This record gives sequence, structure tokens and C-alpha cells, in this order.
Amino acid sequence: GDYNQKIDYVFKVVLIGDSAVGKTQLLARFARNEFSVDSKATIGVEFQTKTLLIDHKTVKAQIWDTAGQERYRAVTSAYYRGAVGAMLVYDMTKRQSFDHMARWLEELRGHADKNIVIMLIGNKCDLGSLRAVPTEDAQEFAQRENLFFMETSALEATNVETAFFTILTEIYRII
Ligand code: GDP
Ligand code: MG
Repeated sequence: GDYNQKIDYVFKVVLIGDSAVGKTQLLARFARNEFSVDSKATIGVEFQTKTLLIDHKTVKAQIWDTAGQERYRAVTSAYYRGAVGAMLVYDMTKRQSFDHMARWLEELRGHADKNIVIMLIGNKCDLGSLRAVPTEDAQEFAQRENLFFMETSALEATNVETAFFTILTEIYRII
């Protein structure tokens, strides 16, 4: 455990995106290497932490989950406060969740620090046959908006560590 560990940095990263795109399962996979098929919609703001080494420094990632607020468009400014990173998550089998990314990005940029590092995540890549968002569409959006981009599966643990490690490393690089 990290009981006696000296923490060099704490990085707050927020997860945003429509309901049911897989935010909570991405966090469960990253923080605890778990996945649950019938994850309940979460109530109340929550975060989880994971400590990792970046460039020989101990970084505590504090990852916030919207906890059901996405249904009411009620993500508050407290949620974004102090965030140095954000993951904008859509479900690659649900076109609408991708089309909403522009709205989430606008909301994020309205609340967060201007230097925040943002990564676009197309989750559920294990459901390839149901794909509704071509990789190129997402790449184009990410390039235009200056976002990192990755396709992930929380279910199969594809690219989840890589995505979090990439955003945390970039945050570390620019601080
Ligand atoms: P949230 O509302 O964005 O937090 O979404 P959840 O994490 O609660 O996930 C919503 C549903 O999608 C749940 O039934 C999950 O089991 C499922 N889910 C999440 N991630 C994946 C994934 O990578 N692949 C598949 N096939 N299902 C997923
Ligand atoms: Mg959730």
C-alpha cells in the first residue's frame, strides 16, 4: 500500500460525458482493476485515488466521477475546481454520446483552468461490431480541439492504464 509513501504531486482529473458511457467502470478498472456488469448509477460526487510513479516521482491521481449528475446537467463548478486533467468519455456504440462531446467540452472550458489537459475517450471498443463512431471522426474532433484521443474498453481492460498514464504524464510534463 501507499501508507508510508511520500507524495510528490496530487493531480485531480475529472471524468465527464453522458450517462452510461462507462465512466465509472473506467475508474474502477484503473483504480482497482475491477469491472462490474450491472454498475448502479452512482449517487453523489465521488473520487478515487491511485498512486503511481512518473519520472521517479510519486504522483497521486485523484480521479473524480460525475456520479449521476450527468443526467441533470448539474455538474457544478466545485467538480471542476482544481482539476488539472479531464477525460471526455463517449460510448463508441452510441453516436449521440459522441455528438454531445462538443457540449461537454464547452462546459469544461467554461469552468476549468485554461491549461487543463484533456483526453477524448471512445469507450467500449470491445463492442466493435456495434461501432457507431468511426475512429477518424473522433481523431478529427480531437485534432481540431487539441485533445489527446484514445479508444478503450473498461470491460477488457484495453488502453485504460495507457489512457490514464498518458494524461497524467502530460500533466506532469507541463506543470
Ligand atoms: P457511467 O454512467 O458513464 O458511469 O457508465 P457505467 O460505468 O456505469 O457503465 C454503463 C454500462 O456500460 C454498464 O452496464 C457497464 O457494465 C457498461 N460498460 C462500461 N464500460 C464498458 C466497456 O468497456 N465495454 C462494455 N461492453 N460495456 C461497458
Ligand atoms: Mg457512473
